[in-house]
Amino acid sequence: MPLYEYHCQNCTEDFEKIVRFSEANLLPPCPVCGSTDTHKKISAAASFGNASSSGASSSGSSCGSGGGFS
Ligand SMILES: [Zn+2]
Repeated sequence: MPLYEYHCQNCTEDFEKIVRFSEANLLPPCPVCGSTDTHKKISAAASFGNASSSGASSSGSSCGSGGGFS
């Protein structure tokens, strides 16, 4: 069953309620103040931020010349 978010316009309370599909059009009363002046919040698509991809920066390989002094 879907979980809907509601917003009470009377006391500005946000609450969630699991609603059957047959009851999806019914607005539940506010659990705080009991007002039926509620409306369903449209759950927008989750916006997931772009994780900054940190490029694997390999430190410069030091090609050391083995100088053998005799
Ligand atoms: Zn309320």
